[in-house]
Amino acid sequence: MATATLRFYAELNDFLPPEQRQRNLTLPFAAPAPVRHLIELAGVPHTEVEVILLEGESVDLETPVGDGQRLAVYPVFEAFDTRPLLRLRPHPLRTPRFLADAHLGALARGLRLLGFDTLWLNDLGDANLAILARREGRILLTRDRRLLMRREVTHGCYIHPVAPQEQLAYLLEHLQLCPEIAPFNRCTLCNGLLEERLPAQVQSQVPPRVQASQEVFWRCRGCGRIYWQGSHWHAMVRRIQALCPDYAPVPGPS
Ligand SMILES: [Zn+2]
Repeated sequence: MATATLRFYAELNDFLPPEQRQRNLTLPFAAPAPVRHLIELAGVPHTEVEVILLEGESVDLETPVGDGQRLAVYPVFEAFDTRPLLRLRPHPLRTPRFLADAHLGALARGLRLLGFDTLWLNDLGDANLAILARREGRILLTRDRRLLMRREVTHGCYIHPVAPQEQLAYLLEHLQLCPEIAPFNRCTLCNGLLEERLPAQVQSQVPPRVQASQEVFWRCRGCGRIYWQGSHWHAMVRRIQALCPDYAPVPGPS
């Protein structure tokens, strides 16, 4: 049996058992095997990896590893400048769009509130989620590292926090999303885009009291739900500003 020595850097260590973190790991394997196999043998999903050095040379996931070789594995957005190196995904997804797995409903609603196109489907199996993410160019969000290890998944993000209220902040920071937010333009229930409506156009759909107090409404193109700038709008703006301090609100639905 061949062996390879692997060293994982920064937060990739979170995927390892405590006794294996921040040190060289020697893994037995059947040589030759692709880099992908060794990384996942250690328990780290390939979607979390940005740069791999094999004997000091940057390589991709399919490069074969032989007996006695050394791998250094770096995460997405590791602080040092990786530009001269081969990045595993040379084309970042230009407009971030997401697919959240069944357990991340609260995160999906939070992303929609911030304007990100986010599918949340709780009745698809792992294989279908992986295929859908690839076909539609969506970043797959999950706490299931096995799902991120599927070959079909090219862009994914392992959501480390367990608490729903911490997951949105984690993702915004990890993928540096604050410059891209466009809050209040998407339905948090169905992901549909909202379009402006005058009071007369929603007459039969909102209570008279609400109709009289608002000058503009928004209607979801997907499910037809009517939104307006309700009393909790200011609280929602404060919540967004706590996540993205530079956000300057314009009036919108809540
Ligand atoms: Zn809707």
